[in-house]
Amino acid sequence: MQKINEPARQIDVLRQVDVLVVGGGPAGLVAATAAARQGARTLLVERYGCLGGLATGGLVLYMDAITDKAHERVIGGLPWEVLQRLDARGGLVEDAPLRLHVDSELLQAVADDICLESGVELLFHAWGVAALVEKGRVIGVVIESKSGRQAILASVTVDATGDGDIAAFAGARYELGSQCIGLNLKVGGADRARYQQFQREQPERARELREEIKRRGGFPLGLGSTPHSDIGVYWVNILGLSAWGRPGGGEGDVHAYFAGELSAIDVQHLTHVQIELRRRILLSLDFYRQHVPGFENVRLLAFASQIGTRESRRIAGVHLLTKEEVQAGMTFPDAIGRAGITYDPIGSYQVPYGSLVPEAIDGLLVAGRCISVDHWTLQGARLIPPAMMTGQAAGTAAAMAVASGVAPRHVDTAALQRQLVADGVIL
Ligand SMILES: Cc1cc2nc3c(=O)[nH]c(=O)nc-3n(C[C@H](O)[C@H](O)[C@H](O)COP(=O)(O)OP(=O)(O)OC[C@H]3O[C@@H](n4cnc5c(N)ncnc54)[C@H](O)[C@@H]3O)c2cc1C
Repeated sequence: MQKINEPARQIDVLRQVDVLVVGGGPAGLVAATAAARQGARTLLVERYGCLGGLATGGLVLYMDAITDKAHERVIGGLPWEVLQRLDARGGLVEDAPLRLHVDSELLQAVADDICLESGVELLFHAWGVAALVEKGRVIGVVIESKSGRQAILASVTVDATGDGDIAAFAGARYELGSQCIGLNLKVGGADRARYQQFQREQPERARELREEIKRRGGFPLGLGSTPHSDIGVYWVNILGLSAWGRPGGGEGDVHAYFAGELSAIDVQHLTHVQIELRRRILLSLDFYRQHVPGFENVRLLAFASQIGTRESRRIAGVHLLTKEEVQAGMTFPDAIGRAGITYDPIGSYQVPYGSLVPEAIDGLLVAGRCISVDHWTLQGARLIPPAMMTGQAAGTAAAMAVASGVAPRHVDTAALQRQLVADGVIL
């Protein structure tokens, strides 16, 4: 590829803070709240105009992995507080015990409130585009926005971009994973009871129709609850594309399902997927309207404004949490929380602090779906409640590192655990 040199230039330092969180998704909004509640001057930078990431803009509205196999809740703390606040505002629906779906719009408002009430300063419409690194330590981030290019200096930065952008810019080692990239949607006018009756009474016909839409290049459509399902409003989870030109999916092993050759950090791939998915979703809706009972009057209300990246960079950390460790039910002396796992007999597992600490870069923690886990473990660790759980630990640890004047890797993990437990986290 042809190259040019960018001229060096001087830029303004917009803020100097204790803790900078980049990315305001489930992990980032919780990380910033946790850091601010520990007394750290905290700034949260988000590229779009709302918090919540895939749980709002991505229209991913089911809060998975909250419970273990026995349906006991294993996630508490700030993630649970966010959900309770949402419930109090009518933005949560429980369609079976602890099967929780959120309202994408009210969650944005609840996220604003919890951050602002905790003392977080918010900066929307700003992208983190470079890491400022001095002697192996991240000392801040360069952002770009309508105000141009500016710097934010921070004692500790939390990378909650989902894609590990800041860690990668800082030179951290990572593995680049790939899974189907989706694009969720919200529909109105659906009759789920009629659809479920059809599935019960004619399972073979329902299966044939799912196969037929896949053959035509579209997607099977399921109806996920929203607080407005009483008037036919549902969210639809689209598996998406795993390769150029053919829809992802197929029955069988979930991990073969979640593989692919498209990169969620390649802007040309993202553009292709965005256009292809819009086309294939409209085709799917037309097919369902014509052929599937319950969908006769279905209407498209919204495409997600945020593309559905399931996996991209997993930052190499002090600890790599692996399938073998999860399946062996390993516990860790530096555990920072627990997550439910629906597809493995173990039922729930611990996440160690070492999975949030980049192996070689200082001044930086990672949270959310870019933490140090292997591809298999990410299927569960990336889910929204576990992502929030890692955010709480990263934000708390960042503030503790600042308060005690140590690098995040040297935070006293016993003290961190005491604080997390005091704040409702289930270890
Ligand atoms: C199609 C699909 C279906 C899914 N289904 C479920 C499900 O049913 N249940 C479940 O629990 N989970 C599900 N997930 C997983 C879950 O949605 C994500 O893994 C989770 O949202 C990860 O949270 P996060 O905060 O790490 O990242 P994200 O939600 O991706 O948030 C990252 C945030 O950082 C911002 N950002 C990114 N880069 C920058 C930058 N350089 N500068 C500034 N801001 C930046 C983004 O705008 C975003 O707000 C699904 C995911 C997909 C894609």
